[in-house]
Amino acid sequence: MGKFKDLTGLRFGRLTVVRMDKERKNTHIVWECKCDCGNTCHVLGYAMHYGNTKSCGCLEQENRLTFSQFNTKHNYSNDPVLCHVYHVWKSIKGRCRRKTDKRYHRYGGRGISICSEWEDPVNFVNWAIANGYRRGLTLDRIDNDGNYCPENCRFISIRENNRNSSNTHLTMSDIASIRAEYKTGNFKQVDIACKYGITQQTVSKIINYRSWKN
Ligand SMILES: [Zn+2]
Repeated sequence: MGKFKDLTGLRFGRLTVVRMDKERKNTHIVWECKCDCGNTCHVLGYAMHYGNTKSCGCLEQENRLTFSQFNTKHNYSNDPVLCHVYHVWKSIKGRCRRKTDKRYHRYGGRGISICSEWEDPVNFVNWAIANGYRRGLTLDRIDNDGNYCPENCRFISIRENNRNSSNTHLTMSDIASIRAEYKTGNFKQVDIACKYGITQQTVSKIINYRSWKN
């Protein structure tokens, strides 16, 4: 029998555990929690334990608001550098947190997380600018098994990153997604380049079948 840990009364981020739910979710224990904002929510114990769930959802909501305030102030949509950095942040969040992200198994799925400071995109963007981000550079984790946090990250050239890490190599399914996304007409080449951490020239080669011909 697995070890049972009573979480009643414990705090995880903004959540205080009130009681155990009667119902299980796929045999996992679910806890009723009270969020600091006043909402009640039901959360899996391990999701709180590993720090994945820290609020009823209000924290993410505030991060979005914070970014939109930041956007208004800095007019990020007209600034390609800020735009790219924000895309980098979104992409990190996706592969570390969103189980439906097709790269999740290589990141969040093997325990790689994003530090609490970088939960807020403004902190990430500020760090990136202060640490010499410019076009053509890509975010690199110094320890490939380490987390996304200021101590473990730096910017290096894309070519260097491809040499350092097999993670940045595109898979055939990436290639298919890039072509499909471009075909929808909703994304510019530069947005796709941002998302996959590759250059716009590479995107252009892929969608014009000059690379990955089949
Ligand atoms: Zn809340």
